[in-house]
Amino acid sequence: FLTVKEIRKHFGEGDSRVEVLNGIDAEIEKGEICVLLGPSGSGKSTLLNIIGGIDSADSGYIAINGEKTADMNEKRLTLYRRKHLGYIFQQYNLIPNLNIKENVEIGAYLSDNPLDTDEILKTLGLYEHRHKLPNQLSGGQQQRTAIGRAIIKNPDILLCDEPTGALDYKTSKDILKLISDVNKKFGNTVVMVTHNDAIKNMADRVIKLRDGMIRKNYLNENKIAAEDLDW
Ligand code: ATP
Ligand code: MG
Repeated sequence: FLTVKEIRKHFGEGDSRVEVLNGIDAEIEKGEICVLLGPSGSGKSTLLNIIGGIDSADSGYIAINGEKTADMNEKRLTLYRRKHLGYIFQQYNLIPNLNIKENVEIGAYLSDNPLDTDEILKTLGLYEHRHKLPNQLSGGQQQRTAIGRAIIKNPDILLCDEPTGALDYKTSKDILKLISDVNKKFGNTVVMVTHNDAIKNMADRVIKLRDGMIRKNYLNENKIAAEDLDW
């Protein structure tokens, strides 16, 4: 479903040139929760950004349902990003002067068949907070709002880059569980970078990056591959 083929990427030139991704190959099935692990600087965010079309690769390609993103013209790629890709970052990036419901609804912009806003607010436990502004909510509630904004378009692919990086352990576990529940309910394919080991009960696939290469790529069938989450 999501094909990552021979992706190479470097930054800088001359003495400051760094090869970040040295030929990344992976096939992620529809509906999977795929967790990307690796040390700091191993290229996790870079790979996520290339999958999401935010950054471009030096060579190789990303294909979604067999269609290469590099073959899409700019307009098609922009539409694809807006309609079919959801992105959740460590920072929530909510709009401060819009309330929670409005912040979620922004994600439906240009979507053909957005999900029902109230249903999402209820699923995320935000319904009673829907008229509040972001700064009236806790970090966990703000991140749930950002999740709502990402999923309201019912994206084919949900990309999450350390979505719980700014949250305490318990809230992080709740957020990861919520993303897992959303994945089960709506069937989105999830690619997530996280350092939180609570993910080991939820991940369907684990990909471990090191030195710009995939060191491991396996199905987490028994959901207890704890030793591989120790990086
Ligand atoms: P972390 O766990 O710390 O978030 P990461 O695995 O997400 O790390 P990346 O952010 O993908 O790592 O960065 C990989 C390498 O590429 C690092 O050496 C980083 O300094 C470099 N890099 C990333 N983005 C840029 C950029 N825009 N310009 C120059 N170098 C970059
Ligand atoms: Mg990163």
